[in-house]
Amino acid sequence: MKKIALEEHFIVPCLVDHLLEGMPAVTPEVEHTLVDLLSDLGERRLAAMDAAGVELSVLSISGPGVQVEPDASRAVALAREANDLLAEAVAKHPARYRGFAHLAMQDVKAATAELERCVRELGFVGSMVNGHTHGIYLDNPCYDPFWEAMEALDVPLYLHPEDAHVLPHVLQGAAGLSKPVWEWSVETSTHFLRLVFSGLFDRFPKLKIVLGHMGETLPYVLWRLDSRAKLTPSKRPLKLQPSDYLKRNLFVTTSGQCDDVPLIAAISGLGADNVLFSVDYPYEDSAIAGRFLDNAAISEATREKVARLNAVRLMNLKV
Ligand code: MN
Repeated sequence: MKKIALEEHFIVPCLVDHLLEGMPAVTPEVEHTLVDLLSDLGERRLAAMDAAGVELSVLSISGPGVQVEPDASRAVALAREANDLLAEAVAKHPARYRGFAHLAMQDVKAATAELERCVRELGFVGSMVNGHTHGIYLDNPCYDPFWEAMEALDVPLYLHPEDAHVLPHVLQGAAGLSKPVWEWSVETSTHFLRLVFSGLFDRFPKLKIVLGHMGETLPYVLWRLDSRAKLTPSKRPLKLQPSDYLKRNLFVTTSGQCDDVPLIAAISGLGADNVLFSVDYPYEDSAIAGRFLDNAAISEATREKVARLNAVRLMNLKV
């Protein structure tokens, strides 16, 4: 079945240092192969897409990107350079690629202006943000002008994992759990719940947030979030139950989770319209990801939604 994929990474020369800074401990050979694959926007990537039945990939800079850059003005300039290079790559293969904006979230005003430039002038279909920025999460009120622009542009924000700002005590001394094994799921699911419990979605009800990795465990805990939140008096009560925001404002992709159990949990918890295919190229194998969705134990109508129809609707794609 033809697919659209949303968590497909690439890298540009000016951001390779930032990439290597955040990469999990791998051998020099693996590191070299990954940088090589990430840098290729031509034949090899297109062949991997073909092997998985991916007709269209939404490309994003492989994190952590400019958000870890200490110099904010340099971060703004690097993000702009990366987005211009992405626009060139999309222009070369307009039938195969779309782009997510890379943004320097340490400068809210510049990030908002760059998002608007990317969507209105470069034709990008949303943005990807790699978690917190120097410890500041997206529920911080400083981001309200950014969210206002997101809502007005009607594009999704893909909230991608990033290392914890300070490693939680429970993860200290447990190197086997670091980064994608477990740390990133805790960090990223909690980041999304901060958005919910801060009341962000009461103020901006039309926001569309995407989480990878089948929702970073969230589709599994809806009932418990509602039941326990009721017992916890909050200074800022929410208009709706926590699960209502997950069903309305959250979209999850299958990136890096080729397993029917979380897929069926996500479809059953959030609804068949809120689950979308992705690979997490080149960190996952495209062919395995494609075969997983082609053979998953779901109806053909649901499979087509996950494979491409939900992506077309979420990003208002003209395909
Ligand atoms: Mn990824």
